[in-house]
Amino acid sequence: MDDLDEDEARYYPRFFCLDCRTDTCESGEYYMVADNVWAASGLAPNGGMLCLVCLERRIGRPLTSEDFAALWPTASAWERHITARAGSADPPEQLEIWQANTKEGLSNA
Ligand SMILES: [Zn+2]
Repeated sequence: MDDLDEDEARYYPRFFCLDCRTDTCESGEYYMVADNVWAASGLAPNGGMLCLVCLERRIGRPLTSEDFAALWPTASAWERHITARAGSADPPEQLEIWQANTKEGLSNA
């Protein structure tokens, strides 16, 4: 998003999830994961964007706070995401870990 201002970035297709066309910028799911996690998705390093759900589907497991690199989804996007999958694979402590981490200044919210 180097030379795009916020309004352009909002409508620029590179922010759309490649699989489901969710606007990841709009949904707060603009994030970066560790290289090995992204590689597991089968996409090239700058091959596009995926929403949290589609990335998890591609790598075949739930994401954890340790999977993210420099850029994290917004806390609200993450909360919505793990709430949506509550009752499945994910332990409830994840949100607390997330909140503790983002309080340390890692959030891009
Ligand atoms: Zn998606």
